[in-house]
Amino acid sequence: MSIPRNAVITGSTSGIGLGIATAFAAEGLNVMLNGFGDADEIEKTRAGLEENHGVKVLYNGADMTKPEEIRNLISETESAFGSVDVLVNNAGIQHVSPVEEFPEAKWDAIIAINLSSAFHTTKAVFTAMKKRGFGRIINVASAHALVASPFKSAYVAAKHGVLGLTKAVALEGAEHGVTCNAICPGYVKTPLVEAQIPDTAKARNMSEEEVVQKVILEAQPTKKFVTVEQVGALAAFLASDNAASITGAAYQIDGGWVAK
Ligand code: NAD
Repeated sequence: MSIPRNAVITGSTSGIGLGIATAFAAEGLNVMLNGFGDADEIEKTRAGLEENHGVKVLYNGADMTKPEEIRNLISETESAFGSVDVLVNNAGIQHVSPVEEFPEAKWDAIIAINLSSAFHTTKAVFTAMKKRGFGRIINVASAHALVASPFKSAYVAAKHGVLGLTKAVALEGAEHGVTCNAICPGYVKTPLVEAQIPDTAKARNMSEEEVVQKVILEAQPTKKFVTVEQVGALAAFLASDNAASITGAAYQIDGGWVAK
């Protein structure tokens, strides 16, 4: 019998992170959830994953802007499960605004949550992963790690940075069984996307319906949102033994967006 592997997924109380947590639990991985939200809802999610999949699921509410809390998230997982074998850096926020009006506090928060937190988690897990000769680090980047859109300066900068971090860490882990890859989703209908529709409408002087049709789905040749289940399945593959030779890669899952 194989030993169950243990995963930490940042920002997994909602959207893509929760989709990845669900896919991992279905594959038999123990999961440490993280993220914000209503305490009762989070407990319901945690208990539901345990019950449905027969794995251990815990929750730690570390704030990804706080390096000390991030280090505690990793050490608490190691104490509870014995190891962190799979790390998914997924927590992220968005802010849509022309660069000359972009609030400085939003820039700092986006760089901290979407980019720097992945450095802090990686730093905290890396030595033990190398020592065990196995590790999977999966960074949820974005199509915006490869191409830009106007009015998303901080997000695009952070996501391009995540891809650079992915490549550097992949090279450092390559001889130690530790892979590091990025997933680059197009538009997935999660609270993060739903929340930016009104701001994009304002910035582009469009109705909200026009934003969905002409900005969001216009970007994706499939004209369909990517689903959290599809991203979860890709992450589960990258976490598996069969993905041992994939490292430093950027996996587009964007309905053809960056092929244009
Ligand atoms: P979401 O808003 O549904 O989920 C974001 C998660 O991050 C939540 O669990 C939230 O609580 C958590 N979070 C936010 N700030 C945090 C903080 N300071 N500390 C800890 N957790 C925090 O959004 P989502 O769409 O599921 O986004 C998840 C990731 O996917 C992000 O990195 C995002 O950039 C990326 N992404 C999303 C899309 C999309 O279309 N939805 C496309 C490409 C990439």
